[in-house]
Amino acid sequence: MRVGFGYDSHRLVEGRRLVLGGVEIPYHKGLLGHSDGDALVHAITDAVIGALGLGDIGRHFPDTDMTWKDASSVMMLKHIVGLVRANGFEVSWVDCTVIAEEPKLAPYMERMEEAVSASGIPHGAINIKAKTNEGMGFTGRGEGVAAYAVCLLRKL
Ligand code: MG
Repeated sequence: MRVGFGYDSHRLVEGRRLVLGGVEIPYHKGLLGHSDGDALVHAITDAVIGALGLGDIGRHFPDTDMTWKDASSVMMLKHIVGLVRANGFEVSWVDCTVIAEEPKLAPYMERMEEAVSASGIPHGAINIKAKTNEGMGFTGRGEGVAAYAVCLLRKL
């Protein structure tokens, strides 16, 4: 078995869609990024890449690659899940925490788990949690959203 850890953060700005866990969430700001800025899916992706021992998300999806400009991050994760199978592993479990002061994410947890499973990670193998940061730090001030993820891969 292999474990991987992932972290990501993106800045909240006016004029962008807010996409988290592959779900578009109504809010007056969205996450800035080369892709859709989905910090949660990026953290999951880095956790899976880490468990594979294949570097990091920037190596697989460089900002200079226009293929992934405004791309769905779930599709980027799907590409990495393809590498999991190609390397003889399967995703056994993903657990993650997304930190956002606003908006309230609890109503979207189930839809996020379903949307992330479009990557090929089994629906029953994903757990998503959401927290505020109690007003502290950049997440607490609403300047951005952060996410942490761990992934367990099992050798087939
Ligand atoms: Mg990112």
